[in-house]
Amino acid sequence: MASVSVLSAAARRLEGKVALSVITGGASGIGEYAAKLFTKHGAKVMIADIQDDLGQSVCKYLGPSVASYIHCNVTNEAHVQNAVDSTMAQYGKLDIMFNNAGIVGLPKPNILDNTQSEFENVVKVNLTGTFLGTKHAARVMIPTRQGSIISTASICSTIGGVASHAYTSSKHGVLGLTRNTAVELGKHGIRVNCVSPYLVFTPLSRSFFNQDEEAMANVYSNLKGACCTVDDVANAALYLASDDSKYISGHNIVVDGGFTIMNTGLC
Ligand code: NAD
Repeated sequence: MASVSVLSAAARRLEGKVALSVITGGASGIGEYAAKLFTKHGAKVMIADIQDDLGQSVCKYLGPSVASYIHCNVTNEAHVQNAVDSTMAQYGKLDIMFNNAGIVGLPKPNILDNTQSEFENVVKVNLTGTFLGTKHAARVMIPTRQGSIISTASICSTIGGVASHAYTSSKHGVLGLTRNTAVELGKHGIRVNCVSPYLVFTPLSRSFFNQDEEAMANVYSNLKGACCTVDDVANAALYLASDDSKYISGHNIVVDGGFTIMNTGLC
């Protein structure tokens, strides 16, 4: 299939916009779905990832007129700079940056079991990668006095005890970075926000459960099947990317069906 663009021009919420999306490769994942949704709404996307075959197959599915792929390790500043500069060279501008790449690391609840290198590895991808994406997007957006920067955080950006110390720390950091840069970049007409999903079944959450399908099925059944889905998250990102949210900056859209505000106390 060459393209997923089926909406009328009036219905497309990103018509004419260029999105550089650090994308989840493969047949599933939040970034991949977001690339499909953004192009459906009229954007062009640059898919940046380290999984080259998967990223290229998403591009092939979307079609060369709306999607390109670039190898980019988000922990490497030269790669991120190159991804942004290649987008500018190809499309002439950058309207939307979606910092979505992330890893979950090893699920070790006990701090005494955590090694420094495991901790730093997760923080480097999730937080440093988001910092570099935000920095280089801002570099090219500031002269044009517009842009929307969106990062995928997690419910672990506001609560503890769900994932590892490294993951929780990195996602709290993504929220802090979002707030700080929203304050700074607002005067340049750039909005900065994040989305915070609860559990979505993707390759990342499978690795969180150590590929244990039974454990995942148990969680799914405890949630009565009401898991967050990739389209729930991508739709929140689409809203933040579009002019529908033109006065919203520094916010965290928590996509969790109310999980994090649930009263687990007496009543
Ligand atoms: P996923 O594993 O499907 O996607 C993650 C993508 O990031 C993959 O394509 C991977 O190749 C890429 N990536 C990893 N390290 C990279 C690096 N160094 N440079 C460039 N790309 C890299 O998982 P997903 O669930 O779609 O995750 C997307 C985002 O959503 C992550 O930031 C994750 O923390 C967040 N998130 C996921 C869940 C969940 O339950 N799945 C919940 C909350 C937040």
